[in-house]
This record gives sequence, structure tokens and C-alpha cells, in this order.
Amino acid sequence: MIDCGEGTQIQLSKYGIQRNKIKAIFLSHFHGDHLYGLPGVITSYMHFGRKEPLHIFGPVGLKKYIEAIFEVSNVYLQFELILIETIWDVPGLIYEDQQLQVFNFPLDHRIPTQGFIFKTKEPHRNIITENIQKFGLTHEEIKELKCGNTIIKSDGKKVTPDDVCHPPKPICTYVFASDTKPISNFPELAYGCNLLYHEATYLADLETLAIERGHSTSTHAATAAKSLQAKKLILGHYSSRYDDLGPFLTESKLVFENTFLAIDGETHAIN
Ligand SMILES: [Zn+2]
Ligand SMILES: [Zn+2]
Repeated sequence: MIDCGEGTQIQLSKYGIQRNKIKAIFLSHFHGDHLYGLPGVITSYMHFGRKEPLHIFGPVGLKKYIEAIFEVSNVYLQFELILIETIWDVPGLIYEDQQLQVFNFPLDHRIPTQGFIFKTKEPHRNIITENIQKFGLTHEEIKELKCGNTIIKSDGKKVTPDDVCHPPKPICTYVFASDTKPISNFPELAYGCNLLYHEATYLADLETLAIERGHSTSTHAATAAKSLQAKKLILGHYSSRYDDLGPFLTESKLVFENTFLAIDGETHAIN
């Protein structure tokens, strides 16, 4: 889960998201609209019988914030809470599991703020069933080939993964950038991403106000998507002054056609 504003628990219930499936929470920064739901979400796990550890990543101040709240509320958890204060202003790998790598990078806001890049790992390849017999593959050889290694049969013949496996699934990259002024120093990894989520707090006519407040306009977001050669852009974090979000889409599409609006409850495929 990325960020944890007030109302997160209500949204999790409303959209049927099983909270025990959340392995890690990535916090961009500590403004209330990104943070104030966190103590409630963590302590709610006591009612959901959580046993697995929960990782939380955020800029420096995360431990102080959680410890102060837990101390005054006298909270004791039955699962391990792993708080990781990231170096927010230098891009780096902060989390990795079997399927995914997560990198952070600096955004330009009013307080220390980081964006995230989620990148799937190259998955194990599956063997085309008839090739098992055709190439006389043993259990051990199948394991090696699935991991991308070439094997040498007893007669000296080489068998490569490309000879016997289905083509690998493409790697997916999702870039999250909120809250931020327009930035130009995205990490190399962000280029060509499948999906960019970029904040668009204001429409283009309020560019001066946006920059003053450490935010972006729809045109800034679209320009970022264009320069990153992203395949798809989702806008969000609209100021509450706007009732009609249509102009965000219109403005953005002038620069980057494949734009969508983030709307509560809607889902988007990353690839
Ligand atoms: Zn903010
Ligand atoms: Zn915000």
C-alpha cells in the first residue's frame, strides 16, 4: 500500500481489500492526507489476527511518530512491526521480495518527500510440456532451465531456456510521484515505465500557485509522462476546489494522450 491517509480503513472495507494481504506500506511524506490513517490501520490488525510482520517505509520521523502514538495509547502488537526510515533524497532499492523490487527517489515538495518505483522481477519461465519428453529433461534440469540457466545433457548437447520454455513475461514498472513540484531528475529506471501516477493538484492556469505550494498542474504531470516515455498516465490528488475533473483530463491529453483520472474504486492494469 502506498500512503495511508485518513479514511483508509473505510476504503479498504468498502472495496473489499483484504488487509492481511498488505505486506508493506510505503509512505511518501508526513502531511496528514498521506499519514493520518496509519495508526488506525496498524492497530486494526489486532482485530484481524495478524501474525506476519508488517514493513513500513517512510522518511526520517517515522519511528518517532509511531512510538509516540503507541506510547500514549498504550498499544502492544502481536505481530512484528518493522519501521524503516529511508534515505529519501538519494534514489535506492528499499524493498525486495520474490516478485518485486521497490526503489525510492526524491520528489520536490515542502517537506522531505519520496516517490517510488515498483518493478516486477523476471518471473521463472514455464517449460512447454511436450519439451520435457522431447528433450528428456530430469526434475533437476527443469528447475535449472526455469531459473534461466542453460544445461548440458550427458551426450554433451546444450539445452537453453529459449529451446524449451514459454517466452518470459514482460517486466512491469509503476512509478508513483506525489506530492511534488514538477521534477526533471527521475531515475533512469523510471524511463519507459508502464504506468506513471503523477499528482495534478491544480489546472494549468494556477501554475504559479502550484509551484509556490510544492505541487503540480495537469500539464506538469503530462509533461513528466511524455519525457519519461511512459505508456500510461494516471492523474490524482486534485484540489478540493474543483467539482468538475474533466478539464484535468482535457489539459493533460493535449500533451500526453494516454491519460486517465484516478477515481475512487476504479482499478487500472499496470501493463
Ligand atoms: Zn503534501
Ligand atoms: Zn498531499
